[in-house]
Amino acid sequence: MTEEKTRCMKCNHEAIIYQPYSGMHLCKKHFTEDVERKVKLTIRKNYNIGKNEKIAVALSGGKDSCVALYILNKIFGKRRDLELVAITVDEGISVYRKRSIGYAKKLTSDIGVKHLIHSFAEEYDTSLDELAAKERVHGACSYCGVLRKSLVNRIALDIGAKRLVTGHNLDDEAQTIMMNHLGGDVERMIRLSPPRELEGLVLRAKPLRKIPEKEVELYAKVNDIPVDISLCPYKHEALRNEVRLMLDDFEQKHPGTKYSIQKGFDKMVGILAKEFPQAEIKKCTICGQACTADVCQACRLLGKT
Ligand code: SF4
Repeated sequence: MTEEKTRCMKCNHEAIIYQPYSGMHLCKKHFTEDVERKVKLTIRKNYNIGKNEKIAVALSGGKDSCVALYILNKIFGKRRDLELVAITVDEGISVYRKRSIGYAKKLTSDIGVKHLIHSFAEEYDTSLDELAAKERVHGACSYCGVLRKSLVNRIALDIGAKRLVTGHNLDDEAQTIMMNHLGGDVERMIRLSPPRELEGLVLRAKPLRKIPEKEVELYAKVNDIPVDISLCPYKHEALRNEVRLMLDDFEQKHPGTKYSIQKGFDKMVGILAKEFPQAEIKKCTICGQACTADVCQACRLLGKT
């Protein structure tokens, strides 16, 4: 008995995915188009990309940042007035980061995008492995996230980038919104909204924010994008994992939950921003980076105070 193949609802070719939240079966071509359509819409609605801009893309070599760079290159690669520059940070996570940097190098060389690699060792004279081995009050991800964000922002500023693109997907954003709810941290949530121009901080953009994580993974696979699929050895430390499991369970029982969390947040954010106006931006008295206190979080985590 031959097994009946599921067909794409748009063209009747063999389907490679079923989207429970939309009720659609899609083939490779229409799935790829669907992802790219959502990315273009996100960019058009949230991020006003002007002429003669340099766009920095934070590239780890993992699926999210590789897919973000690949799609941006597909959308903007032919525009002569725009330049894409990939920025990779080597945090010093033995084996794991070396391998993912290999993927980042392969992708940028395949698609012809300029690639800059900077490390915690050069910038902070330490590595994440060294920081993680010390007695510490925060999880490794807190050190990694804060220091990487600060370094990527500085590099993007140095090269004159107008935008800094990250690979955050729908799952990442729904998890962050939920984590802030659980922690009662409403003020922090506002930072997730499309940012305003602030001196010393490069404008952020998350073109994959409407794409579920599983679809980012599938997009990379069906489009033969070289991506590192290994997991960071510190990942188990993240509180985010508990929230991820909870939301995945909800999504399975109630398809569309992650989109609903994001939609609810998008509706709330304007009201919240009026209630919690942006704090005054100062310069860190130690490193000079933009921050809202006298000393930035990166310098505080490095014990420079
Ligand atoms: Fe850094 Fe945590 Fe991500 Fe590992 S899982 S790369 S430690 S933020």
